[in-house]
This record gives sequence, C-alpha cells and structure tokens, in this order.
Amino acid sequence: MLKILLVVAVILFGIWLFKKDRRPPPPTKPTTSGKTPAPARALPILPCSHCGTHTDAREMVRGQLGVYCSAAHCQLSGDRIKP
Ligand SMILES: [Zn+2]
Repeated sequence: MLKILLVVAVILFGIWLFKKDRRPPPPTKPTTSGKTPAPARALPILPCSHCGTHTDAREMVRGQLGVYCSAAHCQLSGDRIKP
C-alpha cells in the first residue's frame, strides 16, 4: 500500500514539475495600450512673427501681435511685449 502511495506521489510530483516548466513567463510590465512608451512630450516650436525663425515656445517673447524669437524682433515689428 505504501509503495502505491509513493508511486502516486512521484507521478504527481512529476506532473507538477512538468506544468511548472511549461507555464508561460509572467508578462512584462504592461504599457499603455501595449504600444512602446511614448517619448517625452514634444515641446511646441513656433515661428517668429518677424523673421520666421522657429524657436522653443518657452523661450519666445510674446508680443501683442504675435510671438518673437527675441525682444529685438518684437520691437522691430513695432510690437510691445505683453506684460
Ligand atoms: Zn525673429
């Protein structure tokens, strides 16, 4: 009787080992909608209203008539810098 239980235990252990190895690996950290992670948010680049030079929107001078690459171009365009 003990031999039968031992054989059953060995068989169950073998099945457990087989299933353990066949289990698919856990999925990697899911990303949003399964796509590659989005790059850092692009900064807006705007053209200067005077010369047309494209500049980072954070560095531009904002006038009342438009945006400029520098305060000099704002003045050359007869514009005033927004307070
Ligand atoms: Zn300019």
